[in-house]
Amino acid sequence: MTDLGLVGKRVLVTGAASGIGLETARLLAREGAALVLMDRDEPALDAVAGELRAVARIGGDVTREDDCEAMVAAALSAAGGLDGLAHCAGVSDHVARALEIDIDQWQRIVDVTLRGSFLACRAAARVMLEQKSGSIVTMSSVRGVIGSPRRHAYGPAKAAVSMMTKNLACEWSLHGVRINAIAPGFIRTPMVQRLVDDGKIDERILADRTPMGRLGLPLEIARVSAFLLSDWSSYIAGVTLPVDGGWLAYGGAGPVATH
Ligand code: NAP
Repeated sequence: MTDLGLVGKRVLVTGAASGIGLETARLLAREGAALVLMDRDEPALDAVAGELRAVARIGGDVTREDDCEAMVAAALSAAGGLDGLAHCAGVSDHVARALEIDIDQWQRIVDVTLRGSFLACRAAARVMLEQKSGSIVTMSSVRGVIGSPRRHAYGPAKAAVSMMTKNLACEWSLHGVRINAIAPGFIRTPMVQRLVDDGKIDERILADRTPMGRLGLPLEIARVSAFLLSDWSSYIAGVTLPVDGGWLAYGGAGPVATH
């Protein structure tokens, strides 16, 4: 692979114990970045930090402001600065009809998705704005673009993450800090596997509805994160980039192959 110029870059990855965050951390380690890893699943995080020789690892909950400030402080003390944030921590939806949804579960999903993203980005930007350099990647979703029944917390909160990313780009770009979002389609991670196992989504139907005919791999999101963190994307700010096998491009009804 062509050198993205990430050797020695100090990058914080949240949600690093699983799925997209884990694969992002692995790719960044291969690219030579100095990694600071964060997740609420501390035993899994310990194993990943050991595997990847991370310069620091810290457990925490991104909905807590103190935890977000602590993860950035850990990056500062272990690495002396922060060049990138890949904010991958997130939870899946509470699938329920609007009239039946438990409002506390709704609130928790909105908090992890939107409040957690805002707090993580703000904590990282405090350092990056001071340095006048840095790049941040947030995770939106195709569900933040299209409407879906029975997805009343996740989709709206992901749409808000995209808008948050735009607003922050408008505020921070002039000061050397870029921020962009990725909107993954359906990616083969433990989160999606749990939804398949619980019968909440049907993998075959999703694959058939995807122009590329398959679910995505975590590495396919990680590569785009690495690109957005690197100077190869030096003139991109405030976008939400779909990485979805063509999911959002397709406007037909039913499986792609029948059209
Ligand atoms: P995943 O495999 O479940 O990994 C997410 C990681 O984040 C887990 O280790 C999780 O810990 C951790 N986490 C959850 N809440 C946290 C919190 N409050 N503080 C700190 N860590 C927390 O999920 P994924 O599929 O990789 O998803 C990563 C991101 O991509 C999420 O924002 C997700 O919404 C987004 N996304 C994924 C897909 C997809 O198809 N996979 C599609 C669109 C968007 P626990 O295991 O303890 O929860």
